[in-house]
Amino acid sequence: MKKKKSIKRMLIGLSVVPAVFIGLAIMSISVHSMWKGMSSEISNSLAIAANSLYNTYSLVAPGDYSLKDGVLMKGDIVLEGDYAIVDALKESYGMEITLFYGDERKLTTITDEEGNRVVGTKADPQAVKWVLENGRKYFTQKIEINGEDYFGYYIPVLNKDKSVVGMAFAGEPRVEVIRSISANIMSSLLICLLVIIATLLVCVASGRKIVDALGSIMDYLGFLAQSDFSHKMPKHVEKRRDEIGDMGRYAVEVSRSLEETITTDPLTKLLNRRACKKYLDKWIETCKKQQKNRITVVIADIDHFKKINDTYGHDCGDMVLVTVSEMFKKHMKDKGCVARWGGEEFLLVYETDPQSMQESFCSLLKDIRAHEFIHKQHSFHITLTAGVNGEINGFTFDEIINCADECLYKGKSGGRDRVVFTTGKVIEL
Ligand code: GH3
Ligand code: MG
Ligand code: MG
Repeated sequence: MKKKKSIKRMLIGLSVVPAVFIGLAIMSISVHSMWKGMSSEISNSLAIAANSLYNTYSLVAPGDYSLKDGVLMKGDIVLEGDYAIVDALKESYGMEITLFYGDERKLTTITDEEGNRVVGTKADPQAVKWVLENGRKYFTQKIEINGEDYFGYYIPVLNKDKSVVGMAFAGEPRVEVIRSISANIMSSLLICLLVIIATLLVCVASGRKIVDALGSIMDYLGFLAQSDFSHKMPKHVEKRRDEIGDMGRYAVEVSRSLEETITTDPLTKLLNRRACKKYLDKWIETCKKQQKNRITVVIADIDHFKKINDTYGHDCGDMVLVTVSEMFKKHMKDKGCVARWGGEEFLLVYETDPQSMQESFCSLLKDIRAHEFIHKQHSFHITLTAGVNGEINGFTFDEIINCADECLYKGKSGGRDRVVFTTGKVIEL
């Protein structure tokens, strides 16, 4: 057997999967562009520091860079061993500063584990190629200096004849840069993540509402399929202003008309036998529970009804049934229920005992007898005979009906136009 598909899973899938994918795409695009933006910002600030190094030496020591007996000079001024400028720049920019002569570190703020400046060490071959050989600026996100990785910016150092004699370098340890970038990115990512989670929650919640509403409609239709009309459609479904709400309202309408078709007699619009049996069953249950004998069952039958059909026609018989039904219905309002039990037989269920109903019931039968039925030019009167059973406690539905039926039969054989009680009492109308 094929596994039943769940609309709940499908709806959640339809809303959650795109939300997750879109969220992940937004997150990766924003991480990528933030990384790009921040690394270009770092590249700019490193470039400013490297240029400051170059410009500061141009100002404080005019003349060309040169090596005299292995000592770095600028013009007549000895630069070798004088770290005042690089240290001051490190202080003001918060970056490591290095001045290369050729590919050799001559003045630097970078130190080894013992705190010694890493002077005399060689520049990265990539920087040498770009800056010393090609005279271009060089920015790198990863350059290893003394065992540590740096973000670094190199600019060429020129003598007056425009020859490249060295490099000015500014760098920041990669760990620190990544830490500060990550801190920025993390806060944005967190906001992004919260927005995605909120979107997901909204998607899941609205998906759930739809599924709940569909589930309620399904339950309702399930009860309907078993002819159970007592189940109510939940208010939240009926209140919906969308297609699901329409579906719920249609289901209620279908239920109403189905209930009417199933429970109502089409000619008289009274409850039919099946609906009345249900009503009576319910009452019997209640009486059993409450140990009370509070209902009276009456079967009333029109006398010589066949004669009316035979004399005036079937239509006239129908008119009589409709008129009598209306009178019964009016009479039984707030007293109980009345059903068309068979052809010209009616079942009345009073929510009271026989003593309390007999007077009003007899007066109703007298009213019907007094009613003048008019068909074409003819007028006629009818009478009814009824059997009344007030003993319902401890009896089954069929036993109750049979007892009332027996009384009716006694009434018919006793001369009609009368009410016969199970107690033996007879009221001739
Ligand atoms: P009694 O006094 O013994 O009850 O005699 P009756 O003629 O009323 O009873 P009987 O059972 O002999 O006849 C009932 C008639 O009711 C027979 C049937 O054709 C007629 N009938 C049943 N249903 C309808 C209906 O819906 N419309 C009409 N016009 N006649 C109906
Ligand atoms: Mg009859
Ligand atoms: Mg009959």
